Amino acid sequence: MTPSPARIARAAIALVLLGWAGAAAPRAGATTAGEAGGTHAAAATATAERRDVDRFDTVVIDAGHGGDDHGAAGPGGLLEKDLVLDVAKRLAARLRDQGLRVVMTRESDRAVPLAGRTVAANAAGGDLFLSIHANAAPSRKARGIETYFASLEATDEAARSLASRENAAFREAAAAPEAGGDALGAILGDLIESEHFRDSDEFARLAHGELSAIDPVPARGVKQAPFTVLMGVEMPATLVEIGFITNPQEERALGRAERQDEIAAALERAVREFARRHDARRGFAESTAGGGQ
Ligand SMILES: [Zn+2]
Repeated sequence: MTPSPARIARAAIALVLLGWAGAAAPRAGATTAGEAGGTHAAAATATAERRDVDRFDTVVIDAGHGGDDHGAAGPGGLLEKDLVLDVAKRLAARLRDQGLRVVMTRESDRAVPLAGRTVAANAAGGDLFLSIHANAAPSRKARGIETYFASLEATDEAARSLASRENAAFREAAAAPEAGGDALGAILGDLIESEHFRDSDEFARLAHGELSAIDPVPARGVKQAPFTVLMGVEMPATLVEIGFITNPQEERALGRAERQDEIAAALERAVREFARRHDARRGFAESTAGGGQ
């Protein structure tokens, strides 16, 4: 789907309010998705111009944090930024094997501004945005997965404080609510009234179902919260917290390659089912992600 000029304008205004200070406008040919060197990004942009805009073909994977922003840290020393990058890379490889195009907001341990991730996702023309994080809590007993989609209203106090923590990791974004005030709220409110709200909810439930099935502890549910990284994204967008890095048992499990691959496989199944439904609704008999050749 092609966003209307008005939507693009609103998204651009939102990004300015969010404090994005990048040099490039989010137009075709200019991408912020690539790593330094950018050959992959250039190839991806060329592909974007030729791609079928209706069929599900592009997934944006956002590994949370990076660089100086470590995210949460486990008692054993595992850092959220490293864990989520490992899982993101495994998922990307799996989806590429399915013939899907994957754009990653980062592919190495580097800082990427929050709004820059949004710009990269929109420039890529993604059909789905998936942000991967790991949870933290003052109590070491807290455990289990949580899945989120964006809303101005948080499901509960815990969801609100989680979004606040994830948002505050990015200084420039954290400054925006005070700077933007009601105007920012109005723009974001308008953005999330979009058709993507229902699809974000749908993917969040698929992802949560697949992750719950492989998790030995009860899952914590699909929730809503005002995650800045999801707000300006012009596509269905979900954020998964793949477990509590602050729980010593979960930290040990999450640090294992087998567990990371299980999580990637579960997310791959969710993406493939979402792609199948997406394409079926648009009259495509078989999705590129459906496994058929
Ligand atoms: Zn995080």
